[in-house]
Order: sequence, then structure tokens, then C-alpha cells
Amino acid sequence: MADFRTHLTGGAVIAAVAAFASYSEGLSDAVQTQALFVLGTAASLLPDIDADDSKPLRGVFDMAGLVAGFMAAFALAEHFAVLELVGIWAATWLFVSWPLRLAFARLTVHRGLWHTLLMALVLALAAAIVADLLLGLDATRAWLVAGFVLLGYVTHLVLDEVASVDLMGRRLKRSFGTALKPLSLRAWPGSLMLMGLAVVLAGLAPDPQPLLALLGRAGVQTGLLAAHWPRW
Ligand SMILES: [Zn+2]
Repeated sequence: MADFRTHLTGGAVIAAVAAFASYSEGLSDAVQTQALFVLGTAASLLPDIDADDSKPLRGVFDMAGLVAGFMAAFALAEHFAVLELVGIWAATWLFVSWPLRLAFARLTVHRGLWHTLLMALVLALAAAIVADLLLGLDATRAWLVAGFVLLGYVTHLVLDEVASVDLMGRRLKRSFGTALKPLSLRAWPGSLMLMGLAVVLAGLAPDPQPLLALLGRAGVQTGLLAAHWPRW
């Protein structure tokens, strides 16, 4: 398994190259390009959220706790005094970053569902939907966001897989084949759920036309994808 620093460095390098490409192609302006770089780098750390005591796991749950606590306190702002609101915020944060994180850690298996291309796809689609509905970005920009999430995530999986090959290529570590896989057969109920989720999310995602056009420009055949893209 590649370590945290390797993932951070590798993810940042790939995200930077992609961000420069996006900027020079005129797909994103200066501020958007910087945001995409940060997003791609963050996505390259995300798969290790399934390691029971990893930095990404703590980071994600800490951030989620802070945001959820703020939103909970904000929603109740009319009914409580400031000090009580701070209490609500702190209690929510502590709950998310300890009991909830530990529960999540117990439920997930390292190198299980989270280290799959299927999960990368689901998260990328979810990112496109968030960019579209919550951030109000146009379809092209929303797919760009999805692309950076996918790129960062897959960079992580590739680095993990590379790290499981001995540098001289003479032997494979036991972890070979556990990082970069389309889906997890051992966790097949979860894999089935993720597949269903991917189809649902694809149907909710913004207009796929800009994405298909971009893929077409890169030489990818998109006819089949365009014909079968789910819409609801
Ligand atoms: Zn990993």
C-alpha cells in the first residue's frame, strides 16, 4: 500500500497536470482551475477512508462533523441562545467524528468496496450532481468536477497497485490485485447496490451531451453510451 505522502504527492501532480490542461483548453477559468486542482488532490486521498484509522477517514469525518454541526445549529438558530448553539454545534461535531466514525470503520473492510473503479464512478456521478444542483454549475463544468474526482480517485488506486509490485518486478506482494479492480466480488451485495446506485445517479446527473462531446473529441466511441444513458 502506498503511504499517505505518496498519495498526496502523486494525486497533486496528476491533478495539477489535468488542471493546466483544462485551463489551456478554456474549460475552466483561473479560480475554477484552482478549485479543480484541490478537488482532484482530495479525491486521490479518499479511497483510504476505509482504513480503520487513516488520516483521510479522520479528516472526512472531522470536516463532515464541523459542517453538519454548523448546519444543525443554524437550523435551530431562532430557538436557542448563542452559547447553546455552540453547544449543539460541538455535540454534533463530536458525535460525527467519534461514534459515527468508529461505526463506519467497523462496517468497512480495507481494500473492499472503496478500492474499486465502481466506487470511483459512483462518487464521480455524485460529484456531478452536487456541482449541478447545489453549486449551480453548467453541465460542462459539472462534468469537469466529476472528471477530476474520477481522475484523483483512480490515481490513488493505480498508486496502491503499483506499490504492491516489487520495484524490480520479480515478485508480487500479497496485496496485488486488491487496489485496482472494477468491483469487489467478495462484497457482492455491496457491489450490486453500487451498480444500481450508479444507474440511478447517471439518470439524475446533468445533461451528458458535453461529456459525450468531450469523450468524442478524445477519440472515445460514445454512440453506445449516448443511446443507453438513463434519463428520468
Ligand atoms: Zn489505498
